[in-house]
Amino acid sequence: MLTKTLKVIVLDRFDFRENDTKVILYSREMGKLGLVARGTKKLHSKLAGHLEPIILSQVMFVPGRNFNYIGSAKAENCFLGIKNSLNKIWLAGRVLSSFDKLIKEGQKDEDVFDFLFDFLNWLDNVHVKINEEFIYNIFILKLIQKLGYEPQLYKCSECNNNISSQLNFVFSKGGLVCFKCQQNLSIESMLIDKKLLNFLRLTFRSSFNDFIKSYNFLSNNFNCSLRRLRKILLFNIGDIYIDY
Ligand SMILES: [Zn+2]
Repeated sequence: MLTKTLKVIVLDRFDFRENDTKVILYSREMGKLGLVARGTKKLHSKLAGHLEPIILSQVMFVPGRNFNYIGSAKAENCFLGIKNSLNKIWLAGRVLSSFDKLIKEGQKDEDVFDFLFDFLNWLDNVHVKINEEFIYNIFILKLIQKLGYEPQLYKCSECNNNISSQLNFVFSKGGLVCFKCQQNLSIESMLIDKKLLNFLRLTFRSSFNDFIKSYNFLSNNFNCSLRRLRKILLFNIGDIYIDY
């Protein structure tokens, strides 16, 4: 592997060896990486300030024998609009932590990178009061979709028939199941009413930015359902436990 310049979003970092830190970042060019930043625990480290969580940086990727390293780093966007608000820091931290858990190392996906960047950029610049729980739920649902786990919201996941009777929707197996199949399956499910279904269809159909622009997120009633839905979907992806 060769030295490479990467555009990255810093997800997390922790102490590593005596003077170093290990930085978990999501890069546009190589996906998620854990890189060692030498000397960043020293007081006058030039690197440290450019590698804090919730930052967009340009870093030099240096391959090593045991570990890969960060040769240099230059912050491009510190998202000060987020850093100046406790609520926004909390939400961004929660989003980055879940993102870190859901994304595996070494899988490059520019679309996922842009999605995360657009989210941080939006949060950085939004000036109205936001409902953090709601935004978090939407972010996770959209991320799940980007990772290829979009739920079936139009047909029965079992028999593939169109679902006509609207109030008998149940959620299981990562998608809707018709009333008839649900009775045969007798597995845990979640009732979804027409309003919520339309809302979900809109969520998955629109980009995060378009969705958030067009939706009045101060007057939503879906948080409870979304929370439950989020958990079912994460459970379906398997092996992932994210809870707060
Ligand atoms: Zn069915």
